[in-house]
Amino acid sequence: MAKNPLHCSFCGRNRDEVKILIAGQEGHICENCVEHAREIIEQELMVRDEKTAPSSFKLTVKKPMEIKKFLDEYVIGQDEAKKVLSVAVYNHYKRLQQKSENTGSEIEIEKSNIVMVGETGTGKTLLAKSIARMLNVPFAIVDATVFTEAGYVGEDVESILTRLLQVCNYDVHAAERGIVYIDEIDKIARKGDNPSITRDVSGEGVQQGMLKLLEGTDVLVPPQGGRKHPEQKLIKINTQNILFICGGAFDGIDKIIARRVQTNTIGFNVDKDLQENMKKNLLRYVNAQDLKTFGLIPELLGRLPVTTHLDPLDAPTLRAILTEPKNALIKQYKRLFELEGIHLQIEEDTLDFMVEKALEYKLGARGLRSICEGILTDAMFELPSSKETTFTLTLEYAKRKFDKSKLSLLKVA
Ligand code: ADP
Repeated sequence: MAKNPLHCSFCGRNRDEVKILIAGQEGHICENCVEHAREIIEQELMVRDEKTAPSSFKLTVKKPMEIKKFLDEYVIGQDEAKKVLSVAVYNHYKRLQQKSENTGSEIEIEKSNIVMVGETGTGKTLLAKSIARMLNVPFAIVDATVFTEAGYVGEDVESILTRLLQVCNYDVHAAERGIVYIDEIDKIARKGDNPSITRDVSGEGVQQGMLKLLEGTDVLVPPQGGRKHPEQKLIKINTQNILFICGGAFDGIDKIIARRVQTNTIGFNVDKDLQENMKKNLLRYVNAQDLKTFGLIPELLGRLPVTTHLDPLDAPTLRAILTEPKNALIKQYKRLFELEGIHLQIEEDTLDFMVEKALEYKLGARGLRSICEGILTDAMFELPSSKETTFTLTLEYAKRKFDKSKLSLLKVA
């Protein structure tokens, strides 16, 4: 049968098989082939851009020891978490390099996504942020609680990647090597040990949704976040090289750990001192099994192979947080005063007082800032209009201002 003269010169479809047929000098092209050609061009240009375009995100990978040293400048204590993170991040980016160099090795290094367990305000976000800063890769913080299972009110899990795209101005190549910090991962734990008597909208469904993001596939991301809708143009992102760091307080996990540790030691003549010592910071012994008992599904845990913990902040740590990190609070206040031409002197016992109050009111490291504000606001209000060139923050002054501030109402019973 003779071909209908009106047909697509590329795919051969007849006029009545296509919606649009565009005429050229010697032939025609249908809408399907236009679309196909557009995709090829886009991909081709992207590959070329990747090779030539200078990205503002130039990855700088350091050795694990150097990574830890860098973290030490910003984060006090948390040595174990720092070490684990340094190694995981180093291996992750080494894996990237191996891939791009295409060494021909058959051993595929798997991704090392991380879970950090630790009370709120102990530095989980700060650690993740500092690592991203050091590596110079795009970094996004998302809160797991805003996501819901497809079909329910809330954001689709894919919008986790929207944030990453936004921070690097929709530079897909940069986003594909970024770091995402997913906070409050414990809040999407399965409630109770029985998986599905009723549908658990906020928990297990979201965990399921996250699986494909974490393992490394092509994900279609809504550029503006929120929920996907049919007419929206989606951006394709491959998550294979995105490092996911999850964090959560996992309230009550100490009891789960205690139960496991105890059952493991039944029948042995256990050293009492050792037991007491273990009890003090059970989080140190956290492992994937405990997270599973807490309610994270095994598939998700399988994609988060590295688990680490953060220690609760004690008085010496809080004291160090006030003065030691590169941008420590006290350094910041001193600088603020300096800009007014005022030398700020803080007596040692004033610092101890701030720490004492942060502990007493259970405000943690975050509270240190509010405490400083509460104490220094009047001075910052009055001094710029005075002729003073020095201001000494004494314990007596600090106590007076603290008692007058709203903070003293915050006491946790
Ligand atoms: P989390 O994510 O664990 O809830 P963050 O990392 O957001 O806690 O910590 C809150 C704030 O407390 C940080 O911005 C930082 O100023 C301070 N902070 C907490 N822990 C530390 C730490 N170990 N070293 C230095 N600063 C800390």
